[in-house]
Amino acid sequence: INKLDFKVLITDPVDQYMIKTLQNNGLIVDYKPEISREELLKIIDQYQVLVVRSRTKVDKEIIRYGTNLKIIARAGIGLDNIDTEEASKRNIKIVYAAGASTDSAAELTIGLLLTAARKLYDSMNMAKGGIFKKIEGIELAGKTIGVIGFGRIGTKVAKVCKALDMNVIAYDVIDIKEKANMLGVKVAESLDELLKNSDVITFHVTVGKDAKPILNKDTFNYVKDNTIIINTSRAVVIDGKALLEYIDKKQLTYATDVLWNEPPKEDWEIKLLRHERVIVTTHIGAQTKEAQYRVAVVTTDNLITSLKEIGVL
Ligand code: NAD
Repeated sequence: INKLDFKVLITDPVDQYMIKTLQNNGLIVDYKPEISREELLKIIDQYQVLVVRSRTKVDKEIIRYGTNLKIIARAGIGLDNIDTEEASKRNIKIVYAAGASTDSAAELTIGLLLTAARKLYDSMNMAKGGIFKKIEGIELAGKTIGVIGFGRIGTKVAKVCKALDMNVIAYDVIDIKEKANMLGVKVAESLDELLKNSDVITFHVTVGKDAKPILNKDTFNYVKDNTIIINTSRAVVIDGKALLEYIDKKQLTYATDVLWNEPPKEDWEIKLLRHERVIVTTHIGAQTKEAQYRVAVVTTDNLITSLKEIGVL
């Protein structure tokens, strides 16, 4: 394969490191970080490599129009914006940057945890408005946090929570006993057990594009009153309409970095966004200088390895 015939299209903002490194390897790189879907459908057949972050939805249609695609690179970790099944049918390789934003996402999670526990958002808003009223929160030491998904980010969050003298229980679909034991974390035998025992619940699972909600009309029943729920993974792990119902029924607090639609568009979503016990950030889990650079480096490395494997470099 001649690398001059191999063109790379980048359709979301990435660090310059990636563009420069690919060009230094002799590849033609077109950088269109704000391209529309219509435009992408028109030109995708000219490219062998597509690089995206989370904005570009690489669904069946895009993959079908990309008749020359060999590699899709996701500069980040969640693959829920890529139809991986369709890609594998076409033998298109997927590369991504596992682990590059672990510390940043975990730190944001702790930020949301403290914000929810001490009502920092309300207090800061009041202060800015000239209202110096005291509002009461809760102390985290001695409380139990349930970590759903005990992978890279979940583990880091658990470590910090241990340092805050919280009790940590974790639930995962894979065997996590050894890792949990080492960290002094209790393993929940079932999701119900975790939900029934947690004062705070935090989500760190990976999800595919057809993922079913973990918290739904049924499982919300196990959640204790006044629980703080934190989500920096993906919105679909929670049934939003069920949350809207239970948030008042159980006086829950919901602190999240991710929404079902970003920005929200459904009525129930907007209602949730405006709810007084909902705290929302704008999907900034990986938005730090360090994580963005690391994401670019790891994705580029993995992309170059793949290009070598298929004989382009
Ligand atoms: P990881 O692969 O290291 O860990 C995920 C864990 O979840 C695995 O141990 C897996 O077995 C477990 N899991 C999968 N499905 C589960 C289920 N139904 N129930 C219980 N456990 C389940 O992933 P990670 O690097 O820790 O990332 C976790 C999540 O954080 C991903 O969804 C990722 O997209 C998200 N993320 C978000 C941001 C952000 O900007 N907010 C940044 C980075 C990562």
